[in-house]
Amino acid sequence: MKKEFFFKLLDAYQRYHHSAITTKRFKYEQIISVINSLTTNQRFCIEKVGYSFEERNIFLVQWGQGDVKIMLWSQMHGDESTATRAILDVWNFLIADDDFNEIRSDLFKKTTLIFIPVLNPDGASLFKRRTAQGIDMNRDAVRLQTPEARILKEVIDRFSPDFGFNLHDQSLYYSAGESPFPASISFLAPAYNYAREINTQRENAMAIISYINNLLQKIIPGHVGRYDDTFNPRAFGDNIQKWGTSTILIESGGYPGDGEKEYLRKLNFALLLASFDAIAHDAYRISTNRPYDSIPFNVKDRFFDLLIRNAVIKIAGKEFKVDIGINREEVNYHDCNDFYYRSIVQDMGDLALHHGYEELDVNGMKVKAGKSYPYRLETQEELRNADFNNILKNGYTSVVVDDAVLTKPFCDFPVNFVHHRKVKTADLNIKPEGPADFIVMEELEVKHTIVNGFVVNFSKEGYGVKNGLVYRY
Ligand SMILES: [Zn+2]
Repeated sequence: MKKEFFFKLLDAYQRYHHSAITTKRFKYEQIISVINSLTTNQRFCIEKVGYSFEERNIFLVQWGQGDVKIMLWSQMHGDESTATRAILDVWNFLIADDDFNEIRSDLFKKTTLIFIPVLNPDGASLFKRRTAQGIDMNRDAVRLQTPEARILKEVIDRFSPDFGFNLHDQSLYYSAGESPFPASISFLAPAYNYAREINTQRENAMAIISYINNLLQKIIPGHVGRYDDTFNPRAFGDNIQKWGTSTILIESGGYPGDGEKEYLRKLNFALLLASFDAIAHDAYRISTNRPYDSIPFNVKDRFFDLLIRNAVIKIAGKEFKVDIGINREEVNYHDCNDFYYRSIVQDMGDLALHHGYEELDVNGMKVKAGKSYPYRLETQEELRNADFNNILKNGYTSVVVDDAVLTKPFCDFPVNFVHHRKVKTADLNIKPEGPADFIVMEELEVKHTIVNGFVVNFSKEGYGVKNGLVYRY
C-alpha cells in the first residue's frame, strides 16, 4: 500500500525544519525576518494587517489560488509558540522544489492558505499569555477591546474561510483520558451554541479531527486528548465556528523528553499539511473506527514534572506515607529568551492515579526537607572551589552566602543560595506550594538529593540541576 502523505512528511521533515529556531522562546523579529524573506517568492502574498497594542506589526501571509480557503492563526497566547514554529516549516515545505511538487501544485490550485503567525506579538515578546493590555484575547471575540482581536475578526470577515485552524499550546500536565500518557496533542471542534448542536461546518471540523487522530494514533497511541465542548460565548474558536467557518482547535501539550516541543512541532507540521491535502481532495470524511467522539477528554493535573512515590515524611513528630508531585515552573528572566526554573510541591498525598514525566519510587524511605550548609560562602571564588558533591551528599540543599554573590533570583550551582541574614532556622516542612528541596534517607545515608525539583545526579558528568534558587525569606 502507498505510504500516506502524513508519514512521508514525517520522514522528510528535516528538509523543511526551520533550524534557526529550535526553542519555545524566540524573538518576534526572527519571525518577521522569515516573513520578509517570503516577499521574494511570487507564490506568497504578504500583507501587514495592523498593529498590536504596542504597535508591533501583525502580518498576514497568503499562498495558493484555490477556492477552498483555509485560515490558520497562532500564538494569540504569547507563550504558546509551538505552532508558530510549525508554520515556518510549512512555509519551507510550500517553497521547496522536490518530489512533493505534484501535491504542492495541487494544493496551490485547490486551496488558498491564509496564515496569521503570532497574533499577539506583544505577549510573544515577553513570552506571556496575555496581550499588552493584560487581556486574554481569546476571551475578547465579542467585545473586541484589543487591536489583536479586531484584526482577527476583520480577517475572518474579509475571507470567510471555509476552514480555520486555531493553534495553541496547553498545559503539560493533562493526561489523555485515563491513559498513563500526557495529552500531547488535543483537539476541539468548538460548539457554536449552548445546545452544542452539530451543523455541517462543525461536522466537517469533527471529521478533520478524526482524520488526523487516526494518523496520530499510529505514532503516538494514547497521547491524543479532546477538550470538552461547553460553549464559550467569548472565545474565538466558538465564535468563528458560529460565523460559519469549520473551526479546529489544536493544542500542543507535553511529550516525554520534548522540553522544547520540537517533536510536537514536527507533528503539527505534518498534521497541518495532511489536513490541507485531505481538505483539497475532500478525503477527510472517511469512516474510521476512531471517530471524534472516541477521543478521550483531557484530564487536568494528572502529570507532574517529577513524581516521588511512597515517601515517608514526618510532621510534628508523626510519620506518614505520601506521594509528592513536583512541578518545575519556568520563570521568565530579563526578556522572552531567558528563564529559570522555580519548582514547588504541586500536590502531595495519594497520587497513585497520577504520573510523572520523571518518577522516583523511594519505596518507604524517609524524605526530609533539605538543610542549609552551616558555613557561609563569602565570595565567588569560595563558591567555585566548594565541594558540592560533599555538601549535597551530607544532606544540604542550600548554602548560606554573602550579599556579594546574590546578583539574580537564581544561581548556576547545584544548590540553592540563602541570604546570610535571612536563614530561617525553623524546620521547613514538606508542604503543598512549598519548595522542592529534599533529601531521601535510607537508614542514616542520604540516598537521593532533590534540589529545586531536580534529582541530583552524582553518577555522571554534571549534577542535572538546571538551576538553584536564591532564597530571601
Ligand atoms: Zn492558548
